Amino acid sequence: MLKEEHIGLSGRSTAAVVVAKEAIDTLKASLRGELIQPGDEDYEAARKVYNGMIDKHPALIARCADVADVIAAVNFGRENNLLVSIRGGGHNAGGLGICDDGLVIDLSRIRYTHVDPAAGTVRVGGGSTWGDVDHATHAFGLAVPCGIISTTGVGGLTLGGGLGYLTRKCGLAIDNLMAADVVLANGQLVTADEQQHEDLLWALRGGGGNFGVVTSFLFKAHPIQTVYAGPMFWDLEQAAEVMRWYRQFITEAPNALYGFFAFLIVPPGPPFPEHLRNKNMCGMLWCYTGPLEQAEETFKPIRALFPPALDFVGPIPHPMLQSMFDALYPPGMQWYWKADFVNELSDEAIRLHLKHGSQIPTMHSTMHLYPVNGAAHRVGKNDTAWSYRDATWAQVIVGVDPDPANKDRITDWARQYWDDLHPLSAGGAYVNFMMEEGEDRVKASYRDNYERLAAIKRKYDPTNFFRVNQNIKPAV
Ligand SMILES: Cc1cc2nc3c(=O)[nH]c(=O)nc-3n(C[C@H](O)[C@H](O)[C@H](O)COP(=O)(O)OP(=O)(O)OC[C@H]3O[C@@H](n4cnc5c(N)ncnc54)[C@H](O)[C@@H]3O)c2cc1C
Repeated sequence: MLKEEHIGLSGRSTAAVVVAKEAIDTLKASLRGELIQPGDEDYEAARKVYNGMIDKHPALIARCADVADVIAAVNFGRENNLLVSIRGGGHNAGGLGICDDGLVIDLSRIRYTHVDPAAGTVRVGGGSTWGDVDHATHAFGLAVPCGIISTTGVGGLTLGGGLGYLTRKCGLAIDNLMAADVVLANGQLVTADEQQHEDLLWALRGGGGNFGVVTSFLFKAHPIQTVYAGPMFWDLEQAAEVMRWYRQFITEAPNALYGFFAFLIVPPGPPFPEHLRNKNMCGMLWCYTGPLEQAEETFKPIRALFPPALDFVGPIPHPMLQSMFDALYPPGMQWYWKADFVNELSDEAIRLHLKHGSQIPTMHSTMHLYPVNGAAHRVGKNDTAWSYRDATWAQVIVGVDPDPANKDRITDWARQYWDDLHPLSAGGAYVNFMMEEGEDRVKASYRDNYERLAAIKRKYDPTNFFRVNQNIKPAV
């Protein structure tokens, strides 16, 4: 074969796959969006993801403009036997939106939100961010349960489960997912809802990007507009006492009251008071969605029990709460994640949390305990692919820093913290808080739902075409 007629797909010496240049030109001509290749002006920016630790070099990036582009890209990937990844918001910890030497189906141009206020639903393009959804729904006094940072992709966050400020009130993001349009591995577009392809909808509710490219999501929205929310911080000396109180409190609190616990270092600038800046503290991030006139009353006993060193809790528009940390966590920093589900916060667990939570290595690093109870517990553990409905918290330890020179420091801290706490955990972890940790860990996270997921995978993706994800292998 003549060299000129074929392209080594990575542009690097490790390229294992070659595809006829003509085929690439045909794909490029057929797309409404762009086909980006190594050497193109946009390539370096297009291959970057949120986690600066990830440095992958795809051979082709198909930045799709519509469903037809997605179908063309899926067919091209399959016909040319390419490794394929799906990129939504690009936030995945392990960089699972991108791949080395393969084809990235980049959905970042499929960004739209259509709110139906009468039906209380919102239709969202597969490459949208949660900021897009918050912006669109807020105008109608509505909100969809999402995460805590508005730049995160709707695609990855939803398909993995979706935890956030509204979890206790409205359930996980997947509990509000009514339908999805999916391009399957064979290039066919199907709609999964309660009437058709119900098995696929079940799997999409937690099974990640294993089953196809979701080009559009339909969500139930909730009448939530202004919430009473924000952070409260306390001195580390009070952390054990706060944690002991919190472990009971959050299992009994009304569903309208959500609060996640954190170890943190106070950012070194306004609006934080000077005497607290750079201080290692513990905190709660609250979100109350009950009647605003009852908010002060609700927080009165908490404030009386543990007078906070910092109290920024008050009325705030929901999208503002969602984007409160966006500026603190811009794209491109080094991130190392370790996670677990947790049923109980024993005295021993609290002791170990204090040991590591008091040694946070950098200002951006943190540990969060996100409650997954309240409305999320109303759904049975086999009703969706998301198995850990009996867990009380999703725990995440993240080492974060802008400087690549600190990569080992933040990684070691997170690993040691996790090593100590993991034996006290429920076993598996929330897949969206994991790096690439192997098959056993994925199985532990889906527990007895894994077999059913593997059977659905065999039906919709028998060759494991979509495997750049927390992979569920097709049942044999
Ligand atoms: C700063 C930060 C804050 C976070 N906060 C939260 C939080 O509060 N709650 C929470 O639950 N999670 C949170 N996460 C985790 C987040 O849910 C995952 O990182 C998720 O994978 C991000 O989705 P994405 O679309 O941005 O990622 P990408 O990297 O683009 O994609 C990740 C994976 O999702 C799949 N995927 C994405 N879009 C689609 C699609 N349209 N169709 C099919 N597959 C798709 C692909 O398989 C891909 O491998 C946070 C992450 C970060 C970095």
